[in-house]
Amino acid sequence: MAFESLSDKFQNIFKNLRSKGRLTEEDVKVALKEVKMALLEADVSFKVVKKFINAVTERAVGSDVMNSLTPGQMVIKIVNEEMTNLMGSETTEIKLKPSNEITVIMMAGLQGAGKTTTVAKLAGKFKQKGYKPLLVACDIYRPAAIDQLTINAEKQDVPVFSMGTDNKPKDIAKAAMSHAAKNDNNVVIIDTAGRLHIDEEMMDELIGIKEAVEVDQTILVVDAMTGQDAVNVASNFNDKVGIDGVILTKLDGDTRGGAALSIKAVTDKPILYVGMGEKLSDLEQFYPDRMASRILG
Ligand code: GDP
Repeated sequence: MAFESLSDKFQNIFKNLRSKGRLTEEDVKVALKEVKMALLEADVSFKVVKKFINAVTERAVGSDVMNSLTPGQMVIKIVNEEMTNLMGSETTEIKLKPSNEITVIMMAGLQGAGKTTTVAKLAGKFKQKGYKPLLVACDIYRPAAIDQLTINAEKQDVPVFSMGTDNKPKDIAKAAMSHAAKNDNNVVIIDTAGRLHIDEEMMDELIGIKEAVEVDQTILVVDAMTGQDAVNVASNFNDKVGIDGVILTKLDGDTRGGAALSIKAVTDKPILYVGMGEKLSDLEQFYPDRMASRILG
């Protein structure tokens, strides 16, 4: 299960805090040092941990907390609130235009992150809301990617627009817009090429699509299992292409927590959804407060 080791550590730290009637500033500092170690071991980036610990310390070390009736409980509450803040405090929805206009969503991510699966999962969500999605196959380098998109789209009963592998992604995207307009599709989801590593060509291609069609939202799909790498990927895409939000996949796996806790703090872009499995229904809205409670136990 995700965050298991981090949750266990927090349980222990909190048990110690609760067991003490009164707390000294030293007690709190010792506990926060343990919190710091636990977060670093969970692969949360050093900068994020430092900022987090400073924010908690500022609120937790002081006479208000020390002289309260349940100081341990107060410190735990502060840790919970600051962890929620770290992940964005509020739930961010993917903004869709009114149904008589076309919302264009470009999906990006490294190969294997779960992009194609997530495209189909999202299409299902939009369909549930009464929208008419169109999936666009812009990964021209791997014919298998187009096949996979088509198979997933069929499962969701949504159409795919494809021009095979001989056209440029930006031209496919442009043609898809006229196709959408003709067929009354009001959410266009562009599935772009995933590469094994970030490269200039990949970034240029995404920028090219953005120049060819009016992209409303650029969403990056990253694999939670890759920890700080996921955060670096998000940071890189945000700097080069500009992203509006992140979908974090494979949170059903044995991830340590680093990506979930660092992405918002590092990129200032919210986590929108989390992937909780391989099934097309396994996509959940991301709630920072619920995630904090889940991690803290
Ligand atoms: P892409 O290369 O980024 O398009 O990735 P795919 O969509 O092909 O996904 C790669 C693999 O990850 C596939 O086996 C998916 O079933 C799997 N996958 C995608 N999302 C999730 C998730 O949230 N949880 C789990 N366990 N597997 C996922």
